[in-house]
Amino acid sequence: MEIIRDPIEMQEWGIAYRQNEESIGLVPTMGYLHAGHLSLIRMARDRADKVVVSIFVNPTQFGPNEDFSSYPRDWAHDERLCIGAGVDILFAPDVASMYAKDATVQVLENSMSKGLCGKSRPGHFDGVCTVVTKLFNLTQPSFAVFGEKDGQQLRIIRRLVRDLNIPVKILSGPIIREADGLAMSSRNARLTPDERRQAVCLRRSLDAVEESFAKGERSVNALTAAAREVIARAPLAALDYVEIVDDETLAAVAEIERPALCALAVNFPSARLIDNVVLRPRD
Ligand code: AMP
Repeated sequence: MEIIRDPIEMQEWGIAYRQNEESIGLVPTMGYLHAGHLSLIRMARDRADKVVVSIFVNPTQFGPNEDFSSYPRDWAHDERLCIGAGVDILFAPDVASMYAKDATVQVLENSMSKGLCGKSRPGHFDGVCTVVTKLFNLTQPSFAVFGEKDGQQLRIIRRLVRDLNIPVKILSGPIIREADGLAMSSRNARLTPDERRQAVCLRRSLDAVEESFAKGERSVNALTAAAREVIARAPLAALDYVEIVDDETLAAVAEIERPALCALAVNFPSARLIDNVVLRPRD
């Protein structure tokens, strides 16, 4: 496995490699890799001639009071996992090489990024859209793999490549979970033992929504009420939001008539966690 830290070197490699008409699969991450990341890397490995994994904790997607500086990092662990997973290039730039001090151009999304996580994290998805565009330009992928865990992000990135005609195919991988149902996340490492026990409430609240949906409930208010009840029983969990929106546009819906995304975010004292599920009416 080759490690590239310089963005220009990365781009030169990408451009040269694509001239062979072979495919590059990119898996963008912020590191502290776990089985969720590895499942995406496996998807890329199965489909691409060369697999590039990026590790970059992107400061522009963190708000001023968020956890950029305390975001978990473990280079040796990540490097070992990438070697084990058959990654060809590990691209790990530093912040100064990625952003010119006087940078003035950003990629902004004006609709889908405003609700759900965007409400409590203003500017977050602008940071995501900008860094993902840069990573695409630098690594020259034929396709990139994103996790369904970050449901809003995945849908915004699909919109980004559609609206800007970016020639990168977007693939997605299912949410990988711990044995008790908690979605794997680098931030789980920060939970105290009590918080970790209670963190299962995210998956449980989605179970409640799915159960009620399976019995025929289609009212968004009724379905989200079922989720709220479960979160309310976990004393360390403070619900940020639970919402059900159109699966493609993320627009608000009142009744589920087409596939819908039920997404939630919960603040624990030590970490903010997210999860989601897609609800599909048969007809
Ligand atoms: P992150 O390092 O948290 O920015 O995540 C990098 C990529 O891994 C994103 O596309 C995430 O959606 C994805 N990812 C994170 N956790 C999981 C998980 N538990 N299952 C599947 N994909 C995940």
